[in-house]
Formats: sequence, C-alpha cells, structure tokens
Amino acid sequence: MITALMGPPGSGKSNMAVKTAPKQPVHCLDIDRKVRAQFLDSVKAGTLTFKEIGDTISEDGLRGRVHALVKNEKPSRAPRGWNNFASVCEAADKDPLFQNAGTILIDSYTQLAPHLRAHIQFEAGKSKFVWDHWSVWKAMWQETTGILIDYCLHTATDGCVIPEGKFVCDHDKPEKDLIITIHERVSEKPGDQTERVIVTKADGGGKSREYLGTMNVLICGSIDGAFGLEFGTFFSDVYALRVDVEKGKPEWVCRVHPDGKRDLRCSFPRAKEAEYEPNFKHIINGIARKD
Ligand SMILES: [Zn+2]
Repeated sequence: MITALMGPPGSGKSNMAVKTAPKQPVHCLDIDRKVRAQFLDSVKAGTLTFKEIGDTISEDGLRGRVHALVKNEKPSRAPRGWNNFASVCEAADKDPLFQNAGTILIDSYTQLAPHLRAHIQFEAGKSKFVWDHWSVWKAMWQETTGILIDYCLHTATDGCVIPEGKFVCDHDKPEKDLIITIHERVSEKPGDQTERVIVTKADGGGKSREYLGTMNVLICGSIDGAFGLEFGTFFSDVYALRVDVEKGKPEWVCRVHPDGKRDLRCSFPRAKEAEYEPNFKHIINGIARKD
C-alpha cells in the first residue's frame, strides 16, 4: 500500500497513519515535529519510532532572511533541512528504525516543501524562483517520491531485500507500506467552459498563460507547481480527510473514492462506500461508518 493522505491541518492524517496503519511498527520522518507532542504513548508502546527532520529553514536567522529575499540574494549559509532529509533517506537500508518498520510515514510533504525550496534557492544563488528552478523542483519531488516507493516495495517488513519477481522475502514477510501526508490547495484547470488562452513570454524564458472564461476548480496537494496536481499518480491509494461538525460535535471522515474535485483512489476491493472512519482497517475490510 503506497498511500497519500490529503487534508487540512487537524483533519487527523497523522493520527490515522500512526494509530491504524496495518503494518506496525510505523517509522515516522517527522518534519512537522509533532510526534513528541501528540504520539508519545505510541512511542512508549513500541508501535511508533521517529526521526525529527525539522531544522530552521534559513541558517541566517530572520533578519538575514528578509535581507536576502528583498535583495534577491543567496543566503549566506546553506540550509540544512533538505540535506538532513536526504541523508536520512539515503541511509535507510542501514538504519535499524527503517529496516524494522512495517510502515514508513513521511509527515508531511507540505512541511518538507519549504526545506527543498530553501535548498534550491541556495544552490541557485538567488532567493526568487525562475523558470529553470521549477523544473528542478518538480524533478526533485518526482525522484524523492520514486526513491521512497522503491525502498518500500523492495524491502520486507523484517528488513530483507525482496527478491526480483517475488512479493515476499525468504521469511514470507511482505513489502513495507508507505504513507505520506499533505495539505490541500485549490487549483484551476482549463475545462469545457474556458473560452480563450493568452500565452505570453515570462521572465526567465518560460511562458505564462492567461485564461478567459470559467475554469474547472480542483483540489490538489499543497505542493506548488505541477507536482501538486500529479502526485496522486504515484500512489495506489489517495484519501481525503476532513472534520464535519454537526451540533457542535466533530466527526472525522476519510473519503476514499473521487468527489468530482479530488483525484482520489482506493486499492481495496472491499471498500465499496465512498467514505469511512479514518481507520485503515475499516477501509480494508469495508466496515461502514456508524450513523
Ligand atoms: Zn526476511
């Protein structure tokens, strides 16, 4: 199961992943630095391990950062966040916390984004993104996601490499699951009601498009650029979480099938309903919500 959980903050994505992931224990790359505050009970119970990736986005401090942004200058020191994340991922096959995990959880892609942005800005020597940087940005998201998926599909829950052409290791253990969490953003795409497109040359050699008429509104992942729209294609399961409040009582909902705005998908044949409690076991077994 290669899963993305979309939803606004507080919709229960991390909770669903940590508490209900079918393959335990969960190893969380904790970019939001939430585990300490929210899931210490799971850590104590041994069902959750974690590595905090967070680091200040800019090593220059806030004053230096404003200066660099205004002057479009390179930050004076390299930001460490993306490097931290990359080196943790690169060492996965030697890291016992990765190797022993049933599920790898990246929480969250949304909070990882500013680290990658700061890193590209540093490497480029500019604080503003121009055309070329957007293609680096998209390529890095695709590659990072691809590497994480490959690791999980080829490494069994006991840490063995799964032989080519097999679904289990020599000890009959299946592949690891991957869960990523991501916030949502609203995106507009040209559709039947879009009347005209005006294309102009933009700064840095790219093209900018202006649309006339009505656009189709989509809700996609909160990564800027094309990857936010396309990320779902990498995952076998994409669910949207939300909180409904009725008579002052919150109810957490996990939608697993498309709703016309979001590109959702579910790989479990027993999940016939569109919406479930945010619990993987309920979705896998098709256990309907209580009224
Ligand atoms: Zn094995």
